[in-house]
Amino acid sequence: MTDRLTCLLCPIGCELEVEAGGGDVRVRGHQCDKGIDFASEEVLRPKRNLTTSVPLKGTVDRMVSVRLSDRVPREMIFPILAEITTLRPSAPVRRGDVLIADVCGTGVDVIATRTVASSG
Ligand code: SF4
Repeated sequence: MTDRLTCLLCPIGCELEVEAGGGDVRVRGHQCDKGIDFASEEVLRPKRNLTTSVPLKGTVDRMVSVRLSDRVPREMIFPILAEITTLRPSAPVRRGDVLIADVCGTGVDVIATRTVASSG
């Protein structure tokens, strides 16, 4: 079976044709070897990042945006999201703060992506 993917590793965005079978992955359309690695990972072990927002402790509408420090296996996205939805960080939060370390045992952290001051 042939899949079509766009390589997202650089602005060129090569359109890749990927054939997978028997643990092998054949790639066409790449302009460099990174495209082979990208396609292989997408087919064999797809990974994703996650961005969302959570409310600050004791508030309903004061939010802090968060993301993962690195991509995780796609099947871990929902368990991680379930853990993030329980998160209620206390202000102040600084951009880059680790809000959950090693989330769900993935070795990846949940980090704040913006600074939120204490309420006045
Ligand atoms: S295959 Fe290489 S040149 Fe093409 S988009 Fe990916 S990284 Fe860029």
